[in-house]
Amino acid sequence: MRFTTEQAVAWIKRANERIQENREYLTELDQAIGDGDHGINLARGFREAVTALDRGGLDDIGAVFNQTGMTLLSKVGGASGPLYGTAFIKMGGALKGRREIAFSDLAQAIDAAVEGIGMRGKAQPGDKTMLDLWEPFAGFIRGCEHGVDLKAFRDMCENELERIKQLQARRGRASFLGNRSIGHHDPGAVSSWYLFDTLCAILSESGGHDGDDH
Ligand code: ADP
Ligand code: MG
Repeated sequence: MRFTTEQAVAWIKRANERIQENREYLTELDQAIGDGDHGINLARGFREAVTALDRGGLDDIGAVFNQTGMTLLSKVGGASGPLYGTAFIKMGGALKGRREIAFSDLAQAIDAAVEGIGMRGKAQPGDKTMLDLWEPFAGFIRGCEHGVDLKAFRDMCENELERIKQLQARRGRASFLGNRSIGHHDPGAVSSWYLFDTLCAILSESGGHDGDDH
């Protein structure tokens, strides 16, 4: 299973489309337990990330992710801008100069992103943040060296999102609501699901074989 620079670019573009389509829904989720800016912020950031990619000139996966992270960091704002920015910058750092990678490299890059989100936001598992979906996703990808089973991936995410919904927020704006945050989706976990779902769709379409990494 391989992952290429073209697929990295395709991922950011597809994630952007999904976020634009769900901008209002993300806004509604954030209105319920936050300040209602999550959809607008992310839509702006990902649109800018695609504009930057369209300028071209990037020929490795690390550069694609790094540029995307820098754009998200500067354009998204709120709590999620620095967190998503850090996630992509960490993935970019892990894949610097790499044009084509093995699945295990992608898994390591996602692990680095999870670590970055944790360091930046200081959330613990169970605090009802995006980290509560990033961590199980990293685990899922680690177990996928022979390809992605889309159904298993989607079942896993559905279960995790339902679990996160029932948690009480202990970080970020939603924590101000105390136990009234229980029973609502976490906006950042849902937007993370869009990212992961578009990535897994691309990975499953490629149907690549295992191969030598170098
Ligand atoms: P803000 O809360 O500043 O308005 P956004 O609405 O853009 O920012 O993003 C809210 C999302 O950010 C939450 O749903 C949650 O997933 C995520 N988040 C907030 N604080 C943290 C944190 N400390 N660690 C990880 N994720 C966080
Ligand atoms: Mg918000």
